[in-house]
Amino acid sequence: MSRKICVRGGTLVDETGERRADVLVEEGRIVEVAPAIEPPRGATVLDAGGCLVAPGLVDLHTHLREPGGEAAETVESGARAAALGGYTAVVAMPNTEPAIDNAAIVRDVLALGAGVCADVAVAGAITVGRSGERLAPLAEMAALGVRLFTDDGRGVQDARLMRRALEYAGGLGVVLAQHCEDEELASGGHMHEGAWSSRLGIPGQPALAEEAMLARDLGLVRLTGSPMHFLHLSTAGSVALLRAARSEGLAVTAEATPHHLSLTDETVASYDPVFKVNPPLRTADDVLAVRDALVGGVIDVIATDHAPHPIEAKEEPFESAPPGMLGLETALAVAYDVLCTPGGAGANGDTGPRCTPVELFALMSWRPARIAGLDAAGGHGGPIAAGARAHLCVFDPAARWVVDPSAGASRSRNSPYAGRELTGRVRHTLLGGEPVVVGAEAQR
Ligand SMILES: [Zn+2]
Repeated sequence: MSRKICVRGGTLVDETGERRADVLVEEGRIVEVAPAIEPPRGATVLDAGGCLVAPGLVDLHTHLREPGGEAAETVESGARAAALGGYTAVVAMPNTEPAIDNAAIVRDVLALGAGVCADVAVAGAITVGRSGERLAPLAEMAALGVRLFTDDGRGVQDARLMRRALEYAGGLGVVLAQHCEDEELASGGHMHEGAWSSRLGIPGQPALAEEAMLARDLGLVRLTGSPMHFLHLSTAGSVALLRAARSEGLAVTAEATPHHLSLTDETVASYDPVFKVNPPLRTADDVLAVRDALVGGVIDVIATDHAPHPIEAKEEPFESAPPGMLGLETALAVAYDVLCTPGGAGANGDTGPRCTPVELFALMSWRPARIAGLDAAGGHGGPIAAGARAHLCVFDPAARWVVDPSAGASRSRNSPYAGRELTGRVRHTLLGGEPVVVGAEAQR
């Protein structure tokens, strides 16, 4: 394929800053970046007027559900949803059935990811079957390029095993990612424990269930010297712990989800299981703390925790429905609205802390690319310059659209934003120079 593509009329946003420029792509790579490019004969012109043109987004936390959960999502459908959301690379979580806990399954999932609408990297499990009992063969998975390991869906409960895993991972040069949840403290809880859980009569799990494991693991990072990534932090207490760890210089990174910076536990008053997620939606004060942490560089990245579930599963009563929300197709619009739009809809429609487009794309593109090693392996995260692989996200911050999960690419429908009007939409996505999304429509 020798397609030439000219992305015209946009404002480029990458690590080097923000500037008006067109981008010419040829044979999968960027060949020219200049204020006004006359498209060569035969080139496809993609209109980026009014848009931000950024390096493709990278999601550190995607549940693609394959193998075993194909009724909810497949690698192919999830990658298409990713592309519609502006993502050019995702890290597939290992809580599949069977779990991604050995080289053979890593190979299978990577093979499923060949030729889909986004680059698919794989996270391996820390323990065999994610059962928290004995270490999975991390070295054989690392040899296949696996950079992140996690039992996500569960935290590793055994502190001694987690210490050994960290020592082993440090030697291999890979990073462990923890789902912070003390299962004893969280046991029986279906939402955040607080005023709303009391009022609704739904058993809650305390913020401490997250914070206790985070505190323990920060201690293990200090003890072992191995780096660690913390998944979906959601409480003001977690932010305070992480802020202290950073000022101490510990080698830690962390993520927050779009739903934890835009929705509160009050939504559960609807008893709609679409608002059931783990960690649970928290209070307005927690939401503000997480947003502050993202704007202030205490939390490094936004990750979706895209968690598809079949329609029937989310039609169960609140207490028996599985936790999890879709995220890939709405993440950028939600994050842009909450963090970049003056007066944008926060938890309470407040004005809150704000960041620039460059800071927002840092949270969603080049920082996650680096944590997952997808900058070196795949050329994700920019900068947008001649010679670079053409992974691009073209985002129209003014486009208005109503979220209709049945019109999306995911096989599931469990979006907490269903029926809501969002401002800001991905117009085009280029994966290695191929326009996989044009005019907000997937091309394959
Ligand atoms: Zn998790």
